[in-house]
Amino acid sequence: MASTLTDRLSRLVKTMRGQARITEDNVQDMLREVRMALLEADVALPVVRDFIARVKEKALGAEVVGSLSPGQALVGIVNRELTATMGEGVSDINLAAQPPAVILMAGLQGAGKTTTTAKLAKHLIEKRKKKVLTVSADVYRPAAIEQLKTVTKQAGAEWFPSTPTDKPVDIARAALDHARRHYFDVLLLDTAGRLAIDEALMKEIAELHKAVDPVETLFVVDAMQGQDAINTARAFKEALPLTGIVLTKTDGDSRGGAALSVRQVTGVPIKFAGVSEKIDGLEVFDASRHAGRVLG
Ligand code: GDP
Repeated sequence: MASTLTDRLSRLVKTMRGQARITEDNVQDMLREVRMALLEADVALPVVRDFIARVKEKALGAEVVGSLSPGQALVGIVNRELTATMGEGVSDINLAAQPPAVILMAGLQGAGKTTTTAKLAKHLIEKRKKKVLTVSADVYRPAAIEQLKTVTKQAGAEWFPSTPTDKPVDIARAALDHARRHYFDVLLLDTAGRLAIDEALMKEIAELHKAVDPVETLFVVDAMQGQDAINTARAFKEALPLTGIVLTKTDGDSRGGAALSVRQVTGVPIKFAGVSEKIDGLEVFDASRHAGRVLG
C-alpha cells in the first residue's frame, strides 16, 4: 500500500529538523512528495501542476511556528489549499426559479445519475419539503426508465412515464407541462449517458437543456474515475452551463482525486457526495474530510 503524504514528509523531515522556514532549498523535495501523493490519488496531471505551483507560492517563506517541522507545516498548507479549492462555493441545491424548478442530471453511463436523481428527490422532499417529480429521458436503455421508476418510489417522489420511442426533448417538455399543471416544486430530469464521451450525446443533452431551462445542471461523476475524469468534465462543461457537481461512490476505496480535477476544470462547486448505494446515501460535500482522504 502507498504510504500517506504525512508518512512521506515525516521521513523527509528527519533530514530537515531544526529548519525554521520553508525555502527554495527544502521545498522541492517536499513538493515532489506532494505531487506523488496527488498522482496516486488520481488527480489529473495538469491539475496537479497548477496545484503544486499554488502551494509553492504559499509555502515559500512561510514561518514554521512552534514545534512544527517544515514538513508538518507544508502538510498543513497543502491540506488547507486542497480544502479551499474543493470546498469553494459548497451549497445546497438552488431552487430559486418559478416552480417547477428543473434540475438536469448529466454524466457518463454508470456514474450514478439515476441513483443520485432518487437520492436528491428524497433530500428535497425531506429537507426542503418540496413536491418532486422525476422523469427519464434515457430512451436508449428501457431498463434505465424502469430503474428510475423503482428508485423514485423508494424516495417517495412521483415518476413521470416515458417510452423509448419518444424523443428526449418531447419527454422533457411533456414532464415539465405535467409538473406545471400539477403544481410540482421540482422536476428532476435524468438523462442518457454513454460509456464514453460522444458528440451525439453532447448535442442531445445541450438540446434538452435548452428545452427545459434548468435552474441546476448537475454533473454527476464517479469519485473512482481516474485520470480521465478531467476529459469527461471538460466535455460536459463545453456542452452545458454546469451549476454543480455530485461526486458519487465516495464510499469506494479510491482516494477520490477526481474531485480536485473536476472542481478545477468545471469551476463549479461540488454540492453533494454519494456515500452508499442506498437511497439515503447522499451527503452535502465535506471538502475538509475529502482533502484528508486525497492526501491519504
Ligand atoms: P447511471 O448510469 O449514471 O444512471 O448510474 P446508476 O445510477 O445506474 O448507478 C450505477 C451503479 O453505481 C449502480 O449500481 C448504483 O447503485 C451505484 N452507485 C451510484 N451511486 C453510488 C454511491 O454513491 N455509492 C455506491 N457504493 N454506489 C453507487
